[in-house]
Amino acid sequence: MQPVSFPAGETRPPVTLPSMADIHAHVARLEPYMVEALSALVAAASPSGAEQPAAEAMERLLAELGLETERIVLDSRLIEDDPMFSCPCDPDGGRYNLLARHVPVRRDPGSRSVLFNGHLDVVPTGPLGLWSRAPFEPYVDDGWLHGRGAGDMKGGLVCTLAAFKALRDWGLEPAGIVGFNAVLDEENTGNGTLATLHALQNALGKARLTDFDAVIIPEPFGETLMSAQVGVCWLSVTLTGRPAHVAYMHSGLNPIEAGIAVMADLKLLEAEWNAPENRHPAFMDVAHPINFNLGTIQGGEWNSSVPCTCTMGLRCGFFPDVSADDALAEISARIRDKVAALNPDLVVEIDARGHHSPGCVYDLEHPAMALLATCHEQATGVAPSRLACTATTDGRHFQLSTSLPVTNYGPLARHIHGIDEAVSLDSMKRVTATLIQFIVTWCGVQPRRTA
Ligand SMILES: [Zn+2]
Repeated sequence: MQPVSFPAGETRPPVTLPSMADIHAHVARLEPYMVEALSALVAAASPSGAEQPAAEAMERLLAELGLETERIVLDSRLIEDDPMFSCPCDPDGGRYNLLARHVPVRRDPGSRSVLFNGHLDVVPTGPLGLWSRAPFEPYVDDGWLHGRGAGDMKGGLVCTLAAFKALRDWGLEPAGIVGFNAVLDEENTGNGTLATLHALQNALGKARLTDFDAVIIPEPFGETLMSAQVGVCWLSVTLTGRPAHVAYMHSGLNPIEAGIAVMADLKLLEAEWNAPENRHPAFMDVAHPINFNLGTIQGGEWNSSVPCTCTMGLRCGFFPDVSADDALAEISARIRDKVAALNPDLVVEIDARGHHSPGCVYDLEHPAMALLATCHEQATGVAPSRLACTATTDGRHFQLSTSLPVTNYGPLARHIHGIDEAVSLDSMKRVTATLIQFIVTWCGVQPRRTA
């Protein structure tokens, strides 16, 4: 460690800053902590809408680091008029985000702060029989920690905790405020982060949004810095036809077959939006930025009857220069036109519950984000790649609704939303080292004191 003094007039006492070698050595020693913490979070199964077990596990982990948590209870009535609100898929049900803040006992007026924001919810597992081992019984194999949510994104959350723990272990603390916001419902709507933003924007005391001047979201995109992300909207499309005995099939009207035709037509719209001349500039180099996914399909009663209904759950991407309302309107019109062309007797209903999430472009030239890139390079020896992301993240809330610089930067994961999801422990260690260096440089550090 090299002793470093701060300039005259600086109220912060001199401290010994960790070198990058110190950081790597200590992060290596923290691997058992990281495995244990991440295993506890993964074992606390937390599908969107039922995040409570992970919130409780996270609360314990934050408390172990001496951080007090504040529960921010989701109340959709408080945020439903916000343009960033998405129609919920689940009742509020008393669910809450956890916001923890490290506030230094003595804080320089000029000290800088950072908020780490991450989601606790995970996506459905799919058939358990496809998994090598039970998805909520985490295990390490060949340097990868497996389990649903290990990558997306409990691993990233653990990197932020480990970074803070490393400073504590050295008897240091960030000289500015460091926040940890663990949210619900990112995968369905993003309303969790919106609830915390709303609470911080309207707070009378305690934490306020202005306490922070940078936001990092450790989503698992392989140590890249996110430069842009697409918008995402969800649609539930129900077609009602006319049931009949299959012997007289042509007297009926088959909504499932109509649904297949509707989806084929939507793929043409997807291709139009992906055409080079229609692309947003941030996505010029991305192979296939706009994805329309038929995620669920339900309908029919019996093999020998023409079915009554078909309901399709769609997820559609769109570029950042299109509003969620406009994207939804264009896709809905395309569906209605196709259905009418197929047969005017088909009845179509479109319900837009779930993501109503505009895309955005991140300012990676902002000093905080440029510093994050520098810290990654110092920790790994290589400059980070930039990612124009074909998915949505909660970063949009900060980018579009606040003036805070924000990006996504988290560890390498594999099979997220798939089978045998896993996160790389080596990558988690690199990200942790980067985050330590970021806190040391951006927030500054000082000897840890207690009140
Ligand atoms: Zn995620």
